[in-house]
Amino acid sequence: MKTGLYGGTFDPLHNGHIKVAQAAKNHLQLDRIIFIPAGDPPHKTEQEITDKAHRLAMVKMAAEAVGASVSDWELSRKERSYSVETVRHFKELYPDDEIFFIIGADSFRDLPSWWHYRELMGMCNFVVVSRPDVEKSTFLSRFDGDEIPPRVFFLDNIFMDISSTGIRQMVKEGEDISRLVPPAVAGYIKTNGLYKG
Ligand code: ATP
Ligand code: MG
Repeated sequence: MKTGLYGGTFDPLHNGHIKVAQAAKNHLQLDRIIFIPAGDPPHKTEQEITDKAHRLAMVKMAAEAVGASVSDWELSRKERSYSVETVRHFKELYPDDEIFFIIGADSFRDLPSWWHYRELMGMCNFVVVSRPDVEKSTFLSRFDGDEIPPRVFFLDNIFMDISSTGIRQMVKEGEDISRLVPPAVAGYIKTNGLYKG
């Protein structure tokens, strides 16, 4: 089985995330995608993150619609999760699977600063989805002197100008986000009064 692991803060999950998952699935012929919402992401400690129960609920309602599953493995751990540990966990759980780590170009660009990133790069395939404002030539230079892992698939021709930061800002300003998130997520944000600041 080919399994795609898709981690993120998902605060909130948006249509960009859905498209990323679908594009990875189609292009790499993945058999399944597992969304893995982050508990206490090592890279986002400086900003406040919405309660994990809310983030998990939103990921669940959207993942179901695209036939993906959701793992609470990172969320339910007491300690911080690093991707290298998460990938190791899923490799142990599914020893016969080929693992694909799905990641946006902005996150991939920062990979050299991640905990044990060389080990991580050697552990699995990567599917890197382009993001506006992230120029491939600039981030590839960060890996100078390192081996770019042999199995990195760049999905270069998909650009979705949607971010959770943008959505949180829009909600705060009372703007309409209904085209940017799945309907169920829009409803959830409204019902629970999220991101009003
Ligand atoms: P924030 O603005 O809070 O950082 P985000 O929109 O970047 O939120 P994350 O939860 O940080 O969402 O993203 C999870 C993963 O999905 C990351 O690897 C990120 O690069 C990727 N991603 C998010 N949005 C897009 C998008 N529109 N196109 C491509 N990749 C994306
Ligand atoms: Mg992000």
